[in-house]
Amino acid sequence: MLLKDFTTFKIGGPAKSFLRPADISRLRRVIKNSRERGEKVLVLGAGSNILADDRGVDAVVIKLDAKCFQGINNYGEIVEVGAGKPLSQLLAYCVQKGLSGAEFLAGIPGTVGGALAMNAGISLNKRKLAIGDLVERVLVLDYNNNLKVLERAKLKFGYRQSNLAKYVILGASFKLFPREPGFVKSKLSEYLSLRKAAQDWAWPNAGCVFKNPENDSAGRLIDSCGLKGRRIGGAQVSRKHANFILNVEHASSRDVLVLMREIKKTVKIKHKIILKTEIKIWK
Ligand SMILES: Cc1cc2nc3c(=O)[nH]c(=O)nc-3n(C[C@H](O)[C@H](O)[C@H](O)COP(=O)(O)OP(=O)(O)OC[C@H]3O[C@@H](n4cnc5c(N)ncnc54)[C@H](O)[C@@H]3O)c2cc1C
Repeated sequence: MLLKDFTTFKIGGPAKSFLRPADISRLRRVIKNSRERGEKVLVLGAGSNILADDRGVDAVVIKLDAKCFQGINNYGEIVEVGAGKPLSQLLAYCVQKGLSGAEFLAGIPGTVGGALAMNAGISLNKRKLAIGDLVERVLVLDYNNNLKVLERAKLKFGYRQSNLAKYVILGASFKLFPREPGFVKSKLSEYLSLRKAAQDWAWPNAGCVFKNPENDSAGRLIDSCGLKGRRIGGAQVSRKHANFILNVEHASSRDVLVLMREIKKTVKIKHKIILKTEIKIWK
């Protein structure tokens, strides 16, 4: 099993083990056994924000795509959803039930768990919308492998980060607003068009590689250094969105890392700004 088959970058070798537990008790057993053996455990969502080493990843990788981790239900405007559910399916459910508020997630190719860990969202005309704003509570496995419900007051969300990354996220409740399904559908299409216009979906990629610095855009900084189209091996800076690195021809993880290093160095020299990496690098 190669991680390149489970990441949107289409890069990545084998994990130490790759497991897809069927339910929570099996998941807990896997985590317990791995920890007893001193093995690192990593949770994989849709793999849309990950660069995995093609020589392999020294960890037990767990993918929560079994049916048990993809449930969805609503009680009025509260939606309860499993961590393994793709965001696209959560949004389709919201259209069907006439629930509004999450439409800005349209086009983000992640799962609910990955989106919560990363506090996925969008910046629109200086307004920042992120999944953390919608959360009521989250069900997790804590460090001791115990089930725990974290209420909103215990949750901390920042720009593309949260205090949930240290847990195994199992599911969450979101508070949305009742609206006509037609209204929700048209808002979804609006956000999807915005994303399609701005982002580069022509080649495999992992979305924005670097975080935007305070009051600036990483894409603008990279573009201003003339790096659009810069290529190392099979990895190329997108000509459409300079903060996207594309896998245009069997890129290795090294190709991407070398390109990232060059981008960081060039931006630092020209703008005196140190770009921080957004994507997660798995070795
Ligand atoms: C074309 C494209 C466009 C994108 N556009 C956007 C955008 O507009 N806005 C945005 O914010 N992001 C965007 N992204 C990045 C990415 O889709 C998001 O960060 C997404 O939320 C990641 O979800 P995932 O399920 O793929 O997580 P993964 O990439 O699989 O994992 C990301 C991190 O979350 C952790 N994680 C995943 N699931 C769990 C879990 N159940 N419990 C604990 N930790 C977990 C992983 O261990 C890892 O550290 C884009 C990516 C692509 C490829």
